[in-house]
Amino acid sequence: MKILGLTGGIGSGKSTLLNWFKSKGIPCFESDAVGKELLESELRQKIQTRFGSELYAKGTLDRSVLAKRVFQNSEELKELNEIVHPAVAKAFEEFKVKHKDAPIVIKEAAILFESGGDKFCDSVVLITAPKELRIQRVLERDGGTKSEVLSRMSKQWSDEQKKKKADWVIENIDLSKTIEQAETILMELKN
Ligand code: ATP
Repeated sequence: MKILGLTGGIGSGKSTLLNWFKSKGIPCFESDAVGKELLESELRQKIQTRFGSELYAKGTLDRSVLAKRVFQNSEELKELNEIVHPAVAKAFEEFKVKHKDAPIVIKEAAILFESGGDKFCDSVVLITAPKELRIQRVLERDGGTKSEVLSRMSKQWSDEQKKKKADWVIENIDLSKTIEQAETILMELKN
């Protein structure tokens, strides 16, 4: 089994490309989505004990309150990562067992390089797009303000940093060209 990492900054098009890989029948592991699910289930007790039960006062985790807290306190961010990362890594191990006969699986993560997750991939695709286009796409998708998007971007590595570590870079402007490049990557991996 080959593990293909897929990463890119906010609004670059990771989910869009992942949906295309899924349509090709390739098993896809979405690290961020799995992390979010775990925070509502098996990690809930740990988070409540460490960060306070008021974070779940509305029934589900108030992610924006937790995010504000940990981004102001690097020790708390480290502790949160120490709770979430091993649980996501365990879920990925289970995912690999479940798909052990698949020739290729994809591990998608916004912070694949930042978290060191690229070390567990055979190769990594970085998806990029011009910053202004990414901002525009995120605002159209989620609403919010430009400064909120810029603040989220500032917590991720720049594309220039990521390009140094990536095996392939896809600039996602025209979706049909993005898919053509993804097809080439799949062909190369299969050979
Ligand atoms: P995030 O990190 O915020 O989850 P992402 O990298 O997963 O973002 P997507 O959700 O795939 O990005 O794309 C952001 C938005 O841009 C979506 O609304 C998507 O439909 C749109 N989009 C993605 N690629 C293109 C494209 N090539 N042309 C036009 N719109 C696009």
